[in-house]
Amino acid sequence: MEIKKVVVIGSGTMGSGIAAHLCNANVPVTLLDLTTEISQKARERIHKSRPPLLIDKSKIDNIKVGNINDDFDSVKHADWIVEAVVERIDIKHNIYEKIFKSRKPGAIVSSNTSSIPIKVLSEKLNDNDKKDFCITHFFNPVRYMGLLEIVINENNDLDQINALKKFCEKELGKGAIVCNDTPGFLGNRIGVFAMQVAMTEAIKLKLTIEEADAIFGRPMGIPKTGVFGLYDLIGIDLMSDVLKSFIKELSKNDPFQEVAKEIPLITNLIKTGYTGRKGKGGFYRMNKQQNQKILEAINLDTGEYFPTKKIDLGIETVNLNLLIDRKDKYGEYAWSVISKIIKYASSLVPGITDKFNDIDEAMRLGFNWAMGPFEMLKSIGVKKFFDRIDGFENNEFLEGLSKTKDENFYGERQKYTDIETLGKIKPKALKIDKNKSADIYRFKDFNIVEFTTKACALDYDSMDALKNATDKPLIIINESMQFSAGVNLTYTMNFADKGDFKSIEKFIKYFQDTCKHLKYSNHPVISAPSGLVLGGGEEVAIQSNFVVAHTNIVMGLVETGVGLVPAGGGCKEVLWRWSQTEEAKKDPNFAPLKVFNIIGYATTATSTVEAEPLKFLKPEDKKVMNRNSLFEEAKKLLLENKDFKPPEECKFKLSGKPLKDKMVKLLEKLYNDKVILDHGFKVGEELATVLSGGDTSLDKDLSEDNLYNLELESFMRLIETKETQARIKHTLSTGKPLVN
Ligand code: NAD
Repeated sequence: MEIKKVVVIGSGTMGSGIAAHLCNANVPVTLLDLTTEISQKARERIHKSRPPLLIDKSKIDNIKVGNINDDFDSVKHADWIVEAVVERIDIKHNIYEKIFKSRKPGAIVSSNTSSIPIKVLSEKLNDNDKKDFCITHFFNPVRYMGLLEIVINENNDLDQINALKKFCEKELGKGAIVCNDTPGFLGNRIGVFAMQVAMTEAIKLKLTIEEADAIFGRPMGIPKTGVFGLYDLIGIDLMSDVLKSFIKELSKNDPFQEVAKEIPLITNLIKTGYTGRKGKGGFYRMNKQQNQKILEAINLDTGEYFPTKKIDLGIETVNLNLLIDRKDKYGEYAWSVISKIIKYASSLVPGITDKFNDIDEAMRLGFNWAMGPFEMLKSIGVKKFFDRIDGFENNEFLEGLSKTKDENFYGERQKYTDIETLGKIKPKALKIDKNKSADIYRFKDFNIVEFTTKACALDYDSMDALKNATDKPLIIINESMQFSAGVNLTYTMNFADKGDFKSIEKFIKYFQDTCKHLKYSNHPVISAPSGLVLGGGEEVAIQSNFVVAHTNIVMGLVETGVGLVPAGGGCKEVLWRWSQTEEAKKDPNFAPLKVFNIIGYATTATSTVEAEPLKFLKPEDKKVMNRNSLFEEAKKLLLENKDFKPPEECKFKLSGKPLKDKMVKLLEKLYNDKVILDHGFKVGEELATVLSGGDTSLDKDLSEDNLYNLELESFMRLIETKETQARIKHTLSTGKPLVN
């Protein structure tokens, strides 16, 4: 079976997301709804969506729209028909009747239902139709969420299902997990249970919502929205419907029932329009007072709102033991929540799946957790877990493990896919070195560096790991969400606060040396980025010899936003790429002016398609839809480049002062139009100094080292100003840029 044409029926949140993602995979798709007006509106929403559902907006015309009556003929030509209409069984049954009358033989028909069992969905189908019918449960937003749960029925043609799974893995980039027909499948069953436990325990232990979110968040390897933030994001009313459906579907003695009970505060929030971010607010709300926006949090006891309080647990990276070992109510809360999640998830094996590993993967891919429940158990340690847990009656999995107490019970990871992933390789590789910011693995005859800091922010140790690992071919890759959000600004500010600018200079110099070393060492260096590739992260990636990038990367040299210029070779490298263009050969100022614009505005690309025209990526760099494939593709590149020779060093010819004057003219206009303020002007001037080549002229050659020096000098001049320091501090505390 080859999937060349798809019809999606229902153009709401999910149908439009699925259609957009098929478009991302270059598959022509027709989107049908009750009226063409509805599906046309959906297409407009796709075009305007933020974050963008489309990798390449210019492909929007690959999505045709129509209505379920006049345009139903499109079903006849489709290889796959996805139903994503409202969660009503009568409507779904009617649609299937129509589809199966029209579809071509062998075309796959699937439903995106999140709660209706396949045995109910398929009860009116004959055995032949059932062969090609399954559930394909995508998560919202479809482009960004990695999980796809495929639920099959007893009559399915398994070759057909396998072909669909492969298509969804390779072309759509999804982690496709085949699961049993049980309520909520894997992801939602555990994910929603976990949210309810996190909420009910917070109420029981009288934690504030900020405290609960700070614990059931980053330190537990859970996205920073925590539980109450996530409730607001999903919609408190929608969550209430989801719970009702679980209560109805699950047996009376399922522990889910206990945590899904109605909470008066929530009923009241929904009644008063506090349904979350889409409503008047939710557990959190933005309140405007005297023209100032203040983020407020609800008091779980009284329902009143108060300005939020920042909770700092002092735990930078995921560390369950640091959390559960605390002797305060935070420690009690963390243990209570984690142990309940582990207990519940393990009690469902083998009922919802015989592969416990799939539950972990579903939590990573569908909820962006760093670890699933079984990895949490592994990370706490089996002995420690059983020393502390109270009871686990009727839990086959825990009963078995309590007897063996096998600390290595976990075995292989990511069993759901044939792809050779980094997650599968790491346990087989030799960890040859580690420091507080990175791990170095040796696998076969090459090295792997994985950054390990929060958001993979870079510091001296990250650079040290990279430099030490170039004694062999090197792949820079990681399993966390981000490749790297850039240089660790807290690390830099700690020196600045002490007036220790020498240490900052030493670090930047080492950053530059390392990047130069990556580019010119005798072994090939491959960066395999996904997620954020910003600032220093981009500098590492673009000064590697090869790049294999996930299509969803967010890439940019954003240093000007915090009052700095890229100083790890970012200005130099992008300038070099632009100076290789035909236009640059005709006009020596073309490339520097282009780069002045790109870096000056801190331009970011939200996909590989956007990164290429900015020359953050080269046409020959590999782009892959499936994040899981990054390692396999990087490894292929190493094999293809056994006779690797490092590139020749580049030489630049830049105009110097006359070019800088041109750039300053541009800044003056922006300043007069109040687009930039005083410090913005200064930052722009420093960028102009670097990109014009400093004290030079067109008849002189500048080496890469000359440009590195210019970057360093400008960086140092800026970091020493109180305005740049104010920008950095503001960004660190609010996550937003300061305009000064
Ligand atoms: P939605 O309400 O946003 O969209 C449903 C669409 O179906 C609407 O545009 C509606 O006009 C259309 N529709 C209704 N009857 C129709 C008919 N007879 N023919 C054609 N179109 C019809 O719903 P949604 O959130 O996109 O959910 C769709 C499906 O996906 C549901 O089964 C839901 O359970 C499931 N799901 C939702 C999410 C989520 O986060 N929203 C996640 C996973 C799965």
